[in-house]
Amino acid sequence: MEPAVIKKLDETVVNKIAAGEIIQKPANALKELIENSLDAKASHIQVTVKSGGLKLLQIQDNGTGIRREDLAIVCERFTTSKLTKFEDLSNIGTFGFRGEALASISHVAHLCIQTKTANETCGFKACYEDGLLKGPPKPCAGNQGTIITVEDLFYNMPQRLQCLKSPAEEMQKICDVVSKYAVHNSGTAFTLKKYGEPPTLRTADRSTREDNITNIYGLQIGRALLPVELEDDVHKFKMMALVTKVDYSAKRGIMLLFINHRLVDSTALKAAIDSIYSTYLPKGMHPFTYISLEITPTHLDVNVHPTKHEVHFLYEDEIIDKIKRRIELKLLGSNTSRTFYKQL
Ligand code: ADP
Ligand code: MG
Repeated sequence: MEPAVIKKLDETVVNKIAAGEIIQKPANALKELIENSLDAKASHIQVTVKSGGLKLLQIQDNGTGIRREDLAIVCERFTTSKLTKFEDLSNIGTFGFRGEALASISHVAHLCIQTKTANETCGFKACYEDGLLKGPPKPCAGNQGTIITVEDLFYNMPQRLQCLKSPAEEMQKICDVVSKYAVHNSGTAFTLKKYGEPPTLRTADRSTREDNITNIYGLQIGRALLPVELEDDVHKFKMMALVTKVDYSAKRGIMLLFINHRLVDSTALKAAIDSIYSTYLPKGMHPFTYISLEITPTHLDVNVHPTKHEVHFLYEDEIIDKIKRRIELKLLGSNTSRTFYKQL
């Protein structure tokens, strides 16, 4: 048999494939957009959703805005204001650096940006398709900041649409993302609402993380919170955690993990936490834990995956072990006045 002929893929095909990897569901798109608003130093972020984010996902912030002259390229792939040299990655202070989120969204949805910087007297609105402007940006009224409107997500990817969960379930994932960012970024006020309805989630810009946890996850969890702190010079990390005491437990465990302010997953850390609590909680019951880790940037690789959902760091085993011991000690200390379950 003849060998197959190798051809270079069309650029739009390449971009669409990449977009499909970064934006898998409405909640992924929203995470990217929230991170952009935080990178732009917004103190107010409002999210509006229609049909689980599939019909409409809109995020409004009061951040720096986007310069008018950048509107032409902002949705092209690999255009960013945050990174210039690869070396800068080892010390990156922003969430974004790949310049792919807006580009990706523009390949799988109808995307419009309305934005105003402090220097302009009016705002500008521009709409995009496949990374490019659909027409020249139009002047419009508006406050400083940016409104990103994403409509008809995956309109051109029928297979992806079919694989999504119901709007209610996608909304739940959106709510989960907003809740977690709202807790961690307690200096920023977040609002989440379904279009035309009153907010389902609202935090104030001067509330504490404890306030936000109580507000979002309920009084029962709020009352059970125990702060745990740890600073370690050997492995160069700091931890700030709020975990529930052992007299609280729920069927569904909730874990919020931020590493250098990025919302990430860590199976290893999750397993460690579960193993601590399994000694104290009834079988099948779980705690609520919020853990914020700050690791020296040179020990952290954020460029593992385009979604940045996963990060790698040095001394993972040692760090997890130290966290585990610290939390364990704190739980023991808070537990003197009551009896508790011990699984045999
Ligand atoms: P990245 O965040 O990796 O740079 P994005 O595609 O998410 O890539 O965004 C591209 C650029 O658009 C950003 O670098 C930033 O300059 C600008 N931008 C996006 N969203 C906002 C926003 N809400 N406010 C201000 N600037 C923004
Ligand atoms: Mg970004």
